[in-house]
Amino acid sequence: FRRRLVPEGVPGLMSVSQVDTAVGPAAGERLPCSPFVLGEWVSPGTGASSFVVENPADGSPVASVAAAGQSDVERALCSADEAAAVWAGTGGWDRAQVLRAVAAVLRGWAIDAGRVLSREQGKPLAQAVWEIEASADQFDWYADEARRIYGRVVPAKDAGHRIQVVREPVGVVAAFSSWNFPALLAARKLAPALAAGCPVVICPPPEAPLSTMLLAEACRRAGLPAGVLAVLPGDPAELSEPVLRSPVVRKVTLTGSVPVGRILLGVAAAGIKSTSMELGGHAPVLVFDDVDVRAVAAMCVAGKFRNAGQVCASPSRFFVQRGALEEFTDEFVRQTERLRLGDGLDSASDVGPLINERRVAATEELIADAVGKGATVLTGGGIDPGLGRTFFKPTVLGAATSEMKVMTDEPFAPVAPIIPFDTVDDALREANAVPFGLASYVFTNRMDRATAAAEGLQAGMVGVNTLALATAEAPFGGVKESGFGREGGAEGIEDYLVSKYINTVPA
Ligand code: NAD
Repeated sequence: FRRRLVPEGVPGLMSVSQVDTAVGPAAGERLPCSPFVLGEWVSPGTGASSFVVENPADGSPVASVAAAGQSDVERALCSADEAAAVWAGTGGWDRAQVLRAVAAVLRGWAIDAGRVLSREQGKPLAQAVWEIEASADQFDWYADEARRIYGRVVPAKDAGHRIQVVREPVGVVAAFSSWNFPALLAARKLAPALAAGCPVVICPPPEAPLSTMLLAEACRRAGLPAGVLAVLPGDPAELSEPVLRSPVVRKVTLTGSVPVGRILLGVAAAGIKSTSMELGGHAPVLVFDDVDVRAVAAMCVAGKFRNAGQVCASPSRFFVQRGALEEFTDEFVRQTERLRLGDGLDSASDVGPLINERRVAATEELIADAVGKGATVLTGGGIDPGLGRTFFKPTVLGAATSEMKVMTDEPFAPVAPIIPFDTVDDALREANAVPFGLASYVFTNRMDRATAAAEGLQAGMVGVNTLALATAEAPFGGVKESGFGREGGAEGIEDYLVSKYINTVPA
């Protein structure tokens, strides 16, 4: 079944209609953009505040969203607490069925949900549709994992003792995620948590909350019991306070920046809550001189400027072996100049706008710092004023050095600095010289170089001759300040389970 999801313009203040989900050509229904509590979209009470979601391409309003108020937060926590035992007691096979149905609903919506995502976040439609499908993959993958939560029987030292280890859901989860992949990042939390038997209270990113709401609506239609999921739109800094202080919440999971990770970890520590942190990255790419330089440059350009560089695992520091430097740089610039910058909904666009003008200013600052320290802008370098204030031209920096901020601070921007290296050891020293350790990449045809680099890179993930790392069946996550915990793979559900040891001595 295919459903059409057509975002409307902004309704009047406090009105909540913004995503029109017409089922078939005749029947129409509306998905309110408001808090989702106890299995229902809450009508905002008198005096409730709302905020406008803007299309980053032109600032035009996409939707007006009712923010969660104090009573919504209290009801969400209370209903999650009550639902915890019910959902944990629902068998893995039954939970799997619900998750499988969520995936099916999302796949049926892929194109139109992708359109909503593109409008609220800016990315090209093809990337947005991929993201909805990748979100469905998460639910499919964890539908299977829900049926594979195994325990152990341990041979006991003392005769007559029977030791079992069983795996139980950790309890109510508070989830926070970023706007750069507004559907996928939320799905990476919801799917494993729900599979493990945990209720979730999620605060969507205010820049792009609609995708999380679509996931919640998919869960509702798939038959997820009321209370197991709550969505609280609004200012996460305000909402996180009562949510994280609540004794109901036993687990906190964030996808976001290192500074916000520090804040949430502090509050979680006070409540002795379990945490998972998917934080920033600054991925090194090691390109050795034995590769097909043109092919690797083309791959790197596509990866670097995907989602306008606003990707935690984005290849963002290009270390190129000196023998390949000139050819790689020329080809990288040539391929970059072929990219078409434009509105995400224009099928001709390869690269969309940045999420807002603050990201533009931050990117300009990084480039100014690099140029001030001797870098050369080989292409790009600023916005395309003909398109609008958020359209930043894909930028390549030559003569980069490790003193530049673009090499030390997470850029989260369409900027690619290129820097030469001579030996594997030199490259590894430079690559590991930042506090981040999320993704890393190496391109070589030689096994010895691939092995040395893969083993020597301080990162949670290494792509050898590929930039494709985000996939439902593999554990995504970082080391060092990039955080801890894993999303995806068999590991992902572990973050939502605790071990209970039972020693039984027959009476
Ligand atoms: P951010 O840390 O400012 O915000 C992330 C989310 O945290 C917000 O959407 C919100 O839900 C919550 N939040 C923000 N401020 C808060 C506060 N004061 N208290 C409580 N919650 C708060 O990050 P951002 O700018 O939205 O996203 C970019 C960052 O996210 C980058 O550093 C990027 O690398 C990281 N990221 C990491 C991954 C990963 O898997 N490791 C994936 C995507 C993005």
